[in-house]
Amino acid sequence: MTLCTTAFAATAQTTPDFNYTDETFADIQMLRYQVAGFDKLTVRQKTYIYYLSEAALHGRDILFDQNGRYNLRLRRAFEAIYTAYKGDRNSRDFQAFAEYLKRFWFSSGLHHHYGSEKFEPQFTPTWFATALQSVWDEKGLSRLVAPDKQNSNGACRAFLEDVLPILFDNKVMPMRVNQRDGDDLLLTSAENYYAPDITQAEAEEFYTQRKAPADPHPVMTGLNSRLVRGCDGLREEVWREHGLYGQAISRIIENLLKARPFADNIQQQAVIDKLIEYYRTGDLRIFDEYSILWLQETDGLIDFVNGFTETYGDPLGLKASWESIVNFKDLEATRRTETLSANAQWFEDHSPVDQRFKKPQVRGVSAKVITAAILAGDLYPSTAIGINLPNSDWVRREYGSKSVTIANLTSAYSHASRGSGFDTEFVIDEPTRTLINQYGDVTDDLHTDLHECLGHGSGQLLPDTDPDTLGVYGSTIEEGRADLFGLYYMADDKMVELGLVPNAEAYKAHYYTYMMNGLMTQLVRIKPGNNIEEAHMRNRSFIAHWVLEQGRADRVVELVERNGKTFVRINDYKALRTLFGRLLAEVQRIKSEGDFVAARALVENYGVKVDASLHNQMLERYARLNLAPYKGFINPVYIPEYNNEGQIADVRISYNEPYDEQMLRYSRDYNDLPDVNE
Ligand code: ZN
Repeated sequence: MTLCTTAFAATAQTTPDFNYTDETFADIQMLRYQVAGFDKLTVRQKTYIYYLSEAALHGRDILFDQNGRYNLRLRRAFEAIYTAYKGDRNSRDFQAFAEYLKRFWFSSGLHHHYGSEKFEPQFTPTWFATALQSVWDEKGLSRLVAPDKQNSNGACRAFLEDVLPILFDNKVMPMRVNQRDGDDLLLTSAENYYAPDITQAEAEEFYTQRKAPADPHPVMTGLNSRLVRGCDGLREEVWREHGLYGQAISRIIENLLKARPFADNIQQQAVIDKLIEYYRTGDLRIFDEYSILWLQETDGLIDFVNGFTETYGDPLGLKASWESIVNFKDLEATRRTETLSANAQWFEDHSPVDQRFKKPQVRGVSAKVITAAILAGDLYPSTAIGINLPNSDWVRREYGSKSVTIANLTSAYSHASRGSGFDTEFVIDEPTRTLINQYGDVTDDLHTDLHECLGHGSGQLLPDTDPDTLGVYGSTIEEGRADLFGLYYMADDKMVELGLVPNAEAYKAHYYTYMMNGLMTQLVRIKPGNNIEEAHMRNRSFIAHWVLEQGRADRVVELVERNGKTFVRINDYKALRTLFGRLLAEVQRIKSEGDFVAARALVENYGVKVDASLHNQMLERYARLNLAPYKGFINPVYIPEYNNEGQIADVRISYNEPYDEQMLRYSRDYNDLPDVNE
């Protein structure tokens, strides 16, 4: 389960003049992250990172295809125009097209990476058709249509007939992931995890039948396949070496094999071997075995995630998008998270949840602070700043999980946001701003650690609770649970005792920014008229609105007006903590008992709906600051230098590649999947 919150300061040694910010387009600002410490690694370690990063980048096409079945063809057509168009490149149409393509690259497809709504092109269909026609032959684009149409003169026309409605008709594929209660979530979602005509009821029946009810170690059924209609009913196309996405998976395996000799230790080699076995077979039992080996390997400096991991992109929460990150330990900062892990049992024992829902023994909570070296798949360019894996409930219960916070990314966010004027506009008064300036970084940091190291790993399901009972609300409830665990403990005296905060007031900085974000400022990420869809945004919203309502009689937290502007005012921080504790107990009960009705009520009543007038006010105030609400990262470039025997003698790192050149290079060098995959 990944987490994406605001920034905190990092401890890694960085170069002072590093350029963290890059270009801005639409609602996005591109940033760069510094891989501090890379130059100090040995050649062996650099070589290991290099091949793992190659294995990471080879999964790129998979995500594009998972996000929508036209995405790869569209990307190739767009890139042909972008590189070969001979018409007026300063025209409004071309400029609008270039911006559209940058957004398309950013979200690995046609839909917004966060809100999941389809982009509206600001260029005309006529311009697009003419531009495409003008590069069609030169770029050999006939390969983008089905073989029987490739040789005809009308290949370009056939392609346009297919894609023009997809690009320009806002009724076609309007959402990548639709979560609206009551809709058929599959028929109304454009993701490519299910063939287009499969209904939600059919898919749910298919997977209900495949569940072994008494299995104490159930695999995550459906995780690594696309569901399609065969001649006699539904069947899965499994993502594996000789299955769907096999061409990309083979290249991933090839680079994992090249990385293997340079691993930090033999456990890591065993992890790689098991991952390759899983990629070859597609067997989910082997995936669980791999996950266990992976979470138990904590001694090495370098680590990676590479695979089908998070299920946020599937409206039914079964199928996992492909992602990868390669990283190495930030030793200094890791001491902080180790302090939390060492006290995991104390936190479990003292939490405000019912005894029946507590783990008698919290196992294997490992945590470290890492430096990201490459981001790929669903972690690129938009990324998480903390990761807690694996996701299998029984593996977590019996073996624990591995948890990381990514310090060089949060450091980049923090540098980029300095002096943006955001706090001046939205924080209620000077004393609160001072509090946030003093303790905001350290407490945001601590909340991320508590969320990842302890929150997700805490609690247990009752023995007969099916882990999938919460359905579409599962992710939101789980993220809310981890957030609440962090909020509750941040204000505990134990934090001061362990030396994790400087004093007993510091937590207030995070309480304020959390409430401000959940009640108001996260709305700047939502378009007017839309509801909140994304799981993390929903969890922050339901937490903030629930405590606002529950504390209303005692005026614990209020929304107040000043000069026509709304602000959050917290009158009683101690009472707020008590409310967080009450909600944590309730959310843990919902999770442990699998109470779908209560989960739905909590999320739908407090997490989804948006107050239109407050929303407009936020958008107006935010617009005046001229900030991009979303950020993402351009990767560094790793350049291997070879000796006469063809072995890597060193790996240089460069931070100069422009965003569009990086995307075009990836499309050229990691172009693994076929044009037409039907
Ligand atoms: Zn999380």
